[in-house]
Amino acid sequence: MDLRRLTGLGPNFAGTAWDIRDNWHRAQPKSVEAEARLREWRCRVKKSLIRTGLETLYFSGAHRFMQPIFGGVGAIFMLHHVRPPRRGGFQPNRLLEITPAFFDRVISVLQSSEVDLVSLDEMHRRLIERDFSRRFACITFDDGYRDTKTWAYPILKKYGVPFAIYVPTSFPDRLGELWWIALEAAIAKTDRIALLVNGRGQRFDCTTISEKRHLYTEIYAWLRSLPSEDAIRYAVRDLAGRYDVDASAINDDLCMTWQEIAELAADPLVTIGAHTVNHPILAKASDEIVRSELKMGRAVVEAAIGVRPEHLAYPFGDRGAVGSREFQIAAELGFKTAVTTHPAMLFPEHRDQLTALPRIVVDGEFQRGRYMRVLMSGAATAMWNGFRRVDAA
Ligand SMILES: [Zn+2]
Repeated sequence: MDLRRLTGLGPNFAGTAWDIRDNWHRAQPKSVEAEARLREWRCRVKKSLIRTGLETLYFSGAHRFMQPIFGGVGAIFMLHHVRPPRRGGFQPNRLLEITPAFFDRVISVLQSSEVDLVSLDEMHRRLIERDFSRRFACITFDDGYRDTKTWAYPILKKYGVPFAIYVPTSFPDRLGELWWIALEAAIAKTDRIALLVNGRGQRFDCTTISEKRHLYTEIYAWLRSLPSEDAIRYAVRDLAGRYDVDASAINDDLCMTWQEIAELAADPLVTIGAHTVNHPILAKASDEIVRSELKMGRAVVEAAIGVRPEHLAYPFGDRGAVGSREFQIAAELGFKTAVTTHPAMLFPEHRDQLTALPRIVVDGEFQRGRYMRVLMSGAATAMWNGFRRVDAA
C-alpha cells in the first residue's frame, strides 16, 4: 500500500462539526506528549523483552523441553497482510504485516516441524473427537485484504495448505470504515493534528517519525477507550474529513471485492469465515447489535457467494473487544468455532470453549523463521500467560 496514493485522493467525509480552532490555545500537549513517550518507551521495552525471550528460548533449547507441557495439541495462527515491505518509517500497523518471503518460510518451517496444517473444519473435528495423535495448526487471515489473494494464496497453493479468511461484509460491500488505517493515513500526511479529546481541543505536532508513532499510539488508545462504536467512527470521520483522507479509497484499495472472494472460495483449500458486518468493537455494543452483527455477517456472505460461514472471528478480538457474552451468543447462533486474538496454544480443554479459541499472531515485528519454532512449542505463549494453559474467557 502506498500511503501517498491513499491519502491524495481528496475528502470523502462531509462532517467536520468538531471545529476546534477556537480552542487551539487551550491545548495542553505537553502532558499528553509525555504520556505518549512513556507509553512508547514501555512498548519498546516490551518488544525487546519479547524478542530477547524468543531468542533465549530458541538458543537455550528450552522451548523443546517446554513443548510437552505447554505445546498443547495445536495452534491457530492469525495474519492480516502478506506483502512486500513498504518504504517509510511511520508504519504503526506494521505488526499486522509480513513479507511474502517470511510467509513462505513460516509455512515451510511449520511443515518441517511435524505439524499438520489443517482447515478449521478439520481442527474442529480433531477437538471434538479428541484426535490428538499429531499436532496441528490452522492458518487464518482477517479482513479479506487483497494481498491475501495476491501474495499469500500462491504460497499456500504451492504447499497445498488449507487456510481461512474472515470477511467483514461491509468491506467487499464497499461500505467499510477501516478507521485504524484512516488514522494512520491522517497522521502520515500532516505535521500537526487538531483533535477534540475528552471535550477539549488539543493540538499535536507530528513532524518526525517518532512523534507520528507516539501520536498514533496515543490516539488509537483514546479511540478504543471511547464509550461507543459511533463515537469512534464519528471522531475518525471528522479527522479524515479534516485531513482529506478518503476512507472509501482505502476500502477499495486494500480489500477484495465479492468477485475476488468468490474466486478464492471456489478453491477447496479455502474456508470463508464470518467477521461481522461492520467490524465493530462488540463489547461496546448492545446484546441486540452483537446478535445482529454476527447473524448478518454470516447471512450476507452466504447471499453474496453462496457459502455459509460456519466459523467466526471477533473483530479486534482482544479482551477489551470481546468476552463471555459474545462467546455465548456465537455458540447460540450455531458457529462451530469462533476465534479471539488472545495469544495461546490449543489444548484438549478448548473442546468446551469452541467459541473462545485463542490465536497466535504472526507478528511483522518478529520476522525470523526460528521464532516460529518457539511459538509452535508453546513456550512463548506459556510465559505470556503466566504458565496457565487455558485462559480464554
Ligand atoms: Zn478484523
